[in-house]
Amino acid sequence: ARTPMVAGNWKMNFDHLEATAFVQRFAKNLRSRHFDFSRCEVALFPSFTSLRSVQVLVESEKLRIKYGAQTVSVTTQGAFTGDVSADMIAHLGCSYVIVGHSERRKYHPEDDANIVDQVRAVLAAGMQPILCVGESLEERRKGIELDFAVGQVHDVTRDLSDEEAAKLIIAYEPVWAIGTGMVATPQSAQDAAQAFREHLRATFNEHVAQAVRVLYGGSVSSKNAVELITEPDVDGFLIGGAALDVDELTRVCTLT
Ligand code: 13P
Repeated sequence: ARTPMVAGNWKMNFDHLEATAFVQRFAKNLRSRHFDFSRCEVALFPSFTSLRSVQVLVESEKLRIKYGAQTVSVTTQGAFTGDVSADMIAHLGCSYVIVGHSERRKYHPEDDANIVDQVRAVLAAGMQPILCVGESLEERRKGIELDFAVGQVHDVTRDLSDEEAAKLIIAYEPVWAIGTGMVATPQSAQDAAQAFREHLRATFNEHVAQAVRVLYGGSVSSKNAVELITEPDVDGFLIGGAALDVDELTRVCTLT
């Protein structure tokens, strides 16, 4: 069975002092609720500038909270001003990297070819990519949202080996649901998650289809987490806004 996961994507929020203060409070909250980390994985995605501080805190206090980066360079080293390599991220103790978030696709030249290379870079460095896909309102209006999102998964994963594909985590984040308060219905989150799994079964094999976790993202909060996680193919959440409030994020974790 897949271990559920709650992932908090902080986007461009919190400097390193705010990040470590949050992690300390969050760890205290979870401890006081006897949170069982073997039942549900918890991961935070700070800015690059906070990763080292978060690492020092997590290691010194032996916290079971995991963490990762929000994007990664497709190159390994050299004259790429401003870029951060997968090895640099891995050496900070990161377990995951978010790849292809809709905000990266929108504000940066991250096309499918670039996202494929990011996935490869993350895997080569021994981490797991959280691949974000999801339709905009336009595709949903046309009724082609599942084809669109499955197509995005296909375009990025088709050349992976079975072994590589089994390490993927997919985050279904309909663009219209991100930061809008308009959460997808549990049924449409389930439909997408199930469609991804069917696609993975057809492209790779049954083991890959069962191993890959599918998270839902888009206006997740403690008010809608329970009905979403009840769906059989939804394995957790990628959370933006609600992950900036430590008590709210604690509630989502305890409900998942
Ligand atoms: P919100 O939870 O703020 O809608 O953001 C979702 C998201 O983009 C997480 O990556």
